[in-house]
Amino acid sequence: MSASGRRLLAGWGGRPASSAEVVCPATTGEAAAVVARAADEQGPVLARGLGRSYGDAASSAGGTVLDLTGLDQVLGFDESSGLLRAEAGISVEGLLRFSVPRGFFVPVTPGTRQVTLGGAIAADVHGKNHHLDGSLGAWVRSIRLATPAGERLLAPAGEGAGFWATVGGMGLTGVVLDATLELVPIETSYMLVDTERGADLDECMSLMSERDEEYRYSVAWIDCLKGGSGLGRGVLTRANHAGLADLRAAAPRRAGAPLSFSPRQVARVPVTPPFRLPSALAVTAFNEVWFRKAPRRRTGELQSLGAYFHPLDGVGSWNRLYGPAGFTQYQFVVPFGAEAVVREVVEALGARGVPSLLAVLKRFGAADPAPLSFPAPGWTLALDLPLSVPGLGELLDGFDELVASHGGRVYFAKDGRLRPELVSEMYPRLEDWRRACDDLDPARVFQSDLSRRLHLRKA
Ligand SMILES: Cc1cc2nc3c(=O)[nH]c(=O)nc-3n(C[C@H](O)[C@H](O)[C@H](O)COP(=O)(O)OP(=O)(O)OC[C@H]3O[C@@H](n4cnc5c(N)ncnc54)[C@H](O)[C@@H]3O)c2cc1C
Repeated sequence: MSASGRRLLAGWGGRPASSAEVVCPATTGEAAAVVARAADEQGPVLARGLGRSYGDAASSAGGTVLDLTGLDQVLGFDESSGLLRAEAGISVEGLLRFSVPRGFFVPVTPGTRQVTLGGAIAADVHGKNHHLDGSLGAWVRSIRLATPAGERLLAPAGEGAGFWATVGGMGLTGVVLDATLELVPIETSYMLVDTERGADLDECMSLMSERDEEYRYSVAWIDCLKGGSGLGRGVLTRANHAGLADLRAAAPRRAGAPLSFSPRQVARVPVTPPFRLPSALAVTAFNEVWFRKAPRRRTGELQSLGAYFHPLDGVGSWNRLYGPAGFTQYQFVVPFGAEAVVREVVEALGARGVPSLLAVLKRFGAADPAPLSFPAPGWTLALDLPLSVPGLGELLDGFDELVASHGGRVYFAKDGRLRPELVSEMYPRLEDWRRACDDLDPARVFQSDLSRRLHLRKA
């Protein structure tokens, strides 16, 4: 946890940064007290977790930002139901360190363990299992929320509007103090992973459409720089949790400690990195090696939870590799039937030689009732893009319009540049969310740089 005081805050992409008064509460009571005073004294307030949103969702120029990472305690766990209650500042890594040795897994994990429970609820995060298990909101049983009028205990059933406005609500309904989550039972801390190469985008999509349901977890890495017939070639890695019998058969020596979990960082990028990512040439070379090194088809490979779910966490502060110009992640979803949009985006990136080292394709399943939740049935593509690429703003503006005109949307947790005009088209239930938000926070105390840029609270 860092110290209280005035600080410049940026998202994971490094830009833009804005200055706020950062307060680091030591107890949930202290956090609630800051919120209670907010309406009269302090001006805008916003909760912040580990700052893994890429853009301006967790910063608030001139406001008070509550850094909740000190509130990281597990408050209760019932092994018979798998229900765990924890403070909002606990990280997914903290949750896993507690739950995996006890035979439970976090029901939805993003591509990094370095996000807090509060930040994950606020973004209604999705994982590689969205096609079967939905996003995090489907697994949250209750939320204790601090609002200027006092604390509220929110649940999905009954009234539910405040709960679902908070899930995916990007911190704008209040401060999540703690939450109760249903965990998933596991027999081992290993995954059985099948790897398969798709020769082009169409093949990747059809492989995923045909057989994703056999796997609890599925994702594809896509090569956006390969032109011609290999456009959008990719590597699919799909997996299920390994049972005890699988572990005994595949690695009998590890079966003595089937639930061991001790993820490690193997390296850390210094403040001034020895080299910078990524030129189109370097990414083309990387993509070639990555594609060739993947087996055409391999089944039943045993991998640790960390290796399968969070490979990027092995290198600390990897975002510094993008240099001071920073980077953004562009993630959109379009409905099934709009596959041509994904193709058009991949083609446009390839034609312009825009280097995206991480390009991840996934199929989403059913949406949850949260009006601002990002996932909806269809295809999602996430692209890391250096902000130094000439003409990037114009290119992405064009993608926004294409995506919106096909009933799609971009993900606020990754965004730092969308224009406000497109928000109500992308999120047609914005007015429902505004009503629930006004009920919880009529004085509009909760604001972020993102909420002001996109006019989220104002009609
Ligand atoms: C490498 C990497 C991989 C990622 N992979 C995925 C992925 O696979 N799927 C996915 O969905 N996302 C993914 N993300 C995005 C990430 O999961 C979200 O941005 C998440 O919100 C970050 O959590 P945080 O604790 O860092 O929150 P922050 O970035 O600090 O804050 C994010 C939002 O949550 C709000 N917030 C934080 N804490 C609270 C609280 N206690 N109460 C109320 N509001 C709060 C903030 O106000 C802000 O609006 C990834 C990010 C990175 C860097």
